[in-house]
Amino acid sequence: MAKQSIEKSFDTLKQTIPMLLKHKVSAAPINYALWYTYVANESPELKSAIDKVLQTNVPMSESKTKELYRHYLSVGDEISAWELRQSLEAMLVELSQSITDTRSEANSFKQIVDNCADQLATVENEGLSLDEVMSLVRNLVSETQSIRRSTMSFNAALTDAQREISALRAQLEQSQQDALYDALTGLCNRRYFDEELANHALQPKLFLMLVDLDHFKKINDNYGHVMGDLVLKATAKKLQSSCREGAQAFRFGGEEFAIILPNSNFSVARSMAETMRKAIEKIRVKDKRTGEILGDISASIGIAEIQKGMNPLALVEQADKQLYEAKRLGRNRVLPIL
Ligand code: GH3
Ligand code: MG
Ligand code: MG
Repeated sequence: MAKQSIEKSFDTLKQTIPMLLKHKVSAAPINYALWYTYVANESPELKSAIDKVLQTNVPMSESKTKELYRHYLSVGDEISAWELRQSLEAMLVELSQSITDTRSEANSFKQIVDNCADQLATVENEGLSLDEVMSLVRNLVSETQSIRRSTMSFNAALTDAQREISALRAQLEQSQQDALYDALTGLCNRRYFDEELANHALQPKLFLMLVDLDHFKKINDNYGHVMGDLVLKATAKKLQSSCREGAQAFRFGGEEFAIILPNSNFSVARSMAETMRKAIEKIRVKDKRTGEILGDISASIGIAEIQKGMNPLALVEQADKQLYEAKRLGRNRVLPIL
């Protein structure tokens, strides 16, 4: 579930349903997703796009909905988290329906009680027979039982919903924990890196390389995020295929990668880093929209060797220091030299 509390999500939900009704759209997942995001104001771009449609006073068409959904919401990688969120929200819809049911039953019960009270009041005035009074009382008793049943089933629904929500939450957390691989590049991710480094930290002759793409922000700015992502994928591939002698590549975060090289020596580490740097220089990515070929990609690399008694964090810091120095000296280089 997106980092929203159940309460907040329920709140958004309560505002979303009237929106669906108001704009006469069905509660299909796409519509729901769209209006939910609108109400939650999770995407300012989507909000202004919908506001624009609303201003025209023309009802939101199915094709417009699909277009907005595709444009603003359908992000492949988020689907499974999204599905989980959907089920959570489906539970909440059910819950709110139960609340509504119970409420309306409670309302009709109140009417019956009021009616009975009115009729009982007439007993004295009009002298109802014992049978008539008894039938009123029987009616009251049976209605009381039915409202009790419905309250009980509401409570049961509530308990079920809560159980299901915590199960889904646990599942979501578990799936996040299980995920040791980076979705974009397929490399092992940062979590995996932390574990591996901790596992290896006691061994001598352990080398760490931090690889950071140069001026990557410009690639995003000039060619867009999609192209940026392709460059990240291509980089990961080059790094992976340059790993030798037990080296392991990780996506460290953003446009940074890490290589753990156990049981080696500096000249091997350095020459491997050089191979990686050169492989990255050769990356070519084609922009499908314009046909333009994007090249001129480079990375800076910092290497550090573990010292006796050093903790993993200090090793990362040392490699980072070398990386910073490589950037400062003009990028597209490996440091230290010796
Ligand atoms: P430097 O040479 O100093 O490293 O400059 P830089 O532009 O590479 O570094 P900076 O830290 O300023 O920018 C990194 C950029 O990487 C910013 C961020 O938007 C982008 N980025 C991080 N993760 C991803 C991702 O998964 N995909 C894409 N497309 N961009 C990403
Ligand atoms: Mg960078
Ligand atoms: Mg960086």
